[in-house]
Amino acid sequence: MIQPVRMNNIKILDNEILHFQKNTISYLLSLEPKKFLYEFDKISGIDPGDVTGYAGWERSDKVNFRGHFFGHYVLALSQAILMVDDKVVREKLVSKLEDSVNGLYDAQTNYAKLHPESAGYVSAFKEIALDEVEGKNIADEDKENVLVPWYDLHKILAGLLATYTNLKEQLPEISSKALTIAKRFGEYVYNRLIQLTYSDYMLKIEYGGMNDALYQLFEITLNAHFLTAAEYFDEVTLFESLAENKDILSGKHANTTIPKLIGALHRYVIFTDQELQNKFLDTKQQTKLMMYYQAAKNFWDIVVNNHTYINGDNSQEEHFREPSALYHDAEELDGGQTCETCNAYNMLKLTRLLFTISGDKKYLDYYEKTYINTILASQNPETGMMTYFQPMAAGYTKVYNRPFTEFWCCTGTGIENFTKLSDSCYFKKNDQLYVNLYFSNELQITENNLVIKLRGNKQRNQFDLTVSKLDSHKPANPIQLYLRKPNWAGSDSALLHNGQKLESSVNTDGFWQISDLAPGDEVKINFAMNLNVVNAPDNKKYVALQYGPYVLAGRANSKIEQQNLDHPGGVLVRMAIRDDTFPRTITSEVDFSSWQRQVENEAQIDFASDNLIKVTLPHIAEDYDFIPYYQVYKSRYGVYFEWQKAGSREAKRRRMKLEQARVIKENTIADLINFDNNNAEFTYQLVKDNSEVGDHWGHTYRMAHKNGSFGYIFDLQGKEDSNLELSFLLNNEDAGKQLKFRVNDNPADDKILSVSSDETVDEVGFYTKKFHINPKEPQLKLDFLSDGQDSPRIFEIKIMRK
Ligand SMILES: [Zn+2]
Repeated sequence: MIQPVRMNNIKILDNEILHFQKNTISYLLSLEPKKFLYEFDKISGIDPGDVTGYAGWERSDKVNFRGHFFGHYVLALSQAILMVDDKVVREKLVSKLEDSVNGLYDAQTNYAKLHPESAGYVSAFKEIALDEVEGKNIADEDKENVLVPWYDLHKILAGLLATYTNLKEQLPEISSKALTIAKRFGEYVYNRLIQLTYSDYMLKIEYGGMNDALYQLFEITLNAHFLTAAEYFDEVTLFESLAENKDILSGKHANTTIPKLIGALHRYVIFTDQELQNKFLDTKQQTKLMMYYQAAKNFWDIVVNNHTYINGDNSQEEHFREPSALYHDAEELDGGQTCETCNAYNMLKLTRLLFTISGDKKYLDYYEKTYINTILASQNPETGMMTYFQPMAAGYTKVYNRPFTEFWCCTGTGIENFTKLSDSCYFKKNDQLYVNLYFSNELQITENNLVIKLRGNKQRNQFDLTVSKLDSHKPANPIQLYLRKPNWAGSDSALLHNGQKLESSVNTDGFWQISDLAPGDEVKINFAMNLNVVNAPDNKKYVALQYGPYVLAGRANSKIEQQNLDHPGGVLVRMAIRDDTFPRTITSEVDFSSWQRQVENEAQIDFASDNLIKVTLPHIAEDYDFIPYYQVYKSRYGVYFEWQKAGSREAKRRRMKLEQARVIKENTIADLINFDNNNAEFTYQLVKDNSEVGDHWGHTYRMAHKNGSFGYIFDLQGKEDSNLELSFLLNNEDAGKQLKFRVNDNPADDKILSVSSDETVDEVGFYTKKFHINPKEPQLKLDFLSDGQDSPRIFEIKIMRK
């Protein structure tokens, strides 16, 4: 089988990718293992001392996923240690990993002393959470509020196994300790599951990659208990439907489903070893093995062909929807919730494994697409924080996690992503070397005594590949080079091997093949990039653009204010809110096919931009600039736009809607819509006393407690004589509450803002209340004063021209 080249043999030389990696390593170093271990200690009877635990998904008081992030953390540390050259940073990472593994070891050991019947259990929550997902009745007061306990435990097991496999040579002591914990835990899982009379119940609740991790534990140890335990988590009926090539995905939770197939494929891979197959599987099981591979293969095709956006990711509101309904999902459902980033992480794991079995280039093409346009796209390069959803429709921003108070699933897979950026860059089978990803890096192949250096320009996709000896005193063994010819590469792509053109040698599998590549050889790679219009399967005029490997995002150049607002949903998740004034269209004077030709032939590509590239489209009514989607982080953008012909009925309807939103915006002199106790409010010189902020249904608010107050000063310079309107956004849940407000320190004009239950409200209770004002001064000072009770919440203050 083909094997991925291990990351510690690859040195990343691309500055942008190194920057992403550095951000995540800083984030790892800012986190404290002790704080993650707090809940583990409590469960296992160890006094955590004066340590407190983390909040967000790691909390214990409300619905939570506690323990999950710690598993990702351990895994990411084990990868980061492989990737980092800096000795000081590496030592810090090692020390964090040691604290983590030792902490888990102690928790597990202590738990076994207190509960010998459950020896091996290592967790941030009580075992009762597992009873619950096995279908046992648990009294409300005994519940742990852990939504998906096996999912959380899988992360811990995966972290331990990664520590063992990544670091068994470099850090033998800590990695063997990690394996010990994993083995003890595997025995606990085995002992628990064999007592189950009905095991299907627990398969209904998300369990991450429990089958995959237990197969891996079996592969390492060849202990049959772990094989049995893994099989309990195989959802064979699901695999059978997929093996029959049925698209049964609609309505399924995407990130629950993808790892199941990784596990299925792992089973197949282990037993490609005939000896193991004969030893551990009966004849019936042996016959059925192919079904697991077929299921994973079909699943991949179904997801990639029928459920995947141009960036390589899938899902709406975390779920697969109807096949090929991408336009519908992004536009008619909540477009702020397309493309959960975890799904791409798991799809890439599946893809990598499928390539190692089949050698099929289509998997690598998908890998590159998703690596650039979902994974690299998920990090804010300034803060290092990462996305949950990635909106594909126009008018949204990316929303990033907060570092210490959220700990989403996608932040967990995110820290894994950014500590394995050279993974799957190269693959090897004996002396055959496959090049998958093209960015500057250096690869050492010890067994052939070779160094392969890839340097160049990813902006233009031109690279030089040079070969030298690793140890100049020893002979080197030549390799057979297989360079992936990307599916986006234009027909005038060319390859020179020691000055000789190699155009004809692209073999039928889509790889450029060079035999006997030896020290001193040089290969010049030039992939021709084209601009392509890609459309959604359910609406061919719902279009996105791709230049070479880069999916483009359009930013509106018109002076549209950026509001990075988000609204809460699910458990402590935040989603982007669409700005209705952001144009969602591409309007052209010509018909669709002529426009498509114009784009492909006449678009301007600017290589001197601050971004990798900037693309300007010819002959369109809107003012956009397009940059690589992965580089967008501060602006509102669109990946997909609704194409329309100027003057058409749809164009008129859409323009009217946009015009209404624009008029409101234009007549707004000042507004405060983000009560953040931070920049947004202090812009208006916030003063406050006994007052607080919060959020509700996508809006932030400020309120004052009993006898509290708050106030702002708005600048009206030049507009003070206008006939103005002051409007407040309120919510009818506050009915009966009231608040006094005063304009420019003039108590004679005090007004009462009261919330009544008789107002016409939107579906979640919001309505606007307006007051006429006629200020004579260049500044509008507004003070809010509560009386003997808590005030209503104010969600928006706007000063508008009448
Ligand atoms: Zn996620």
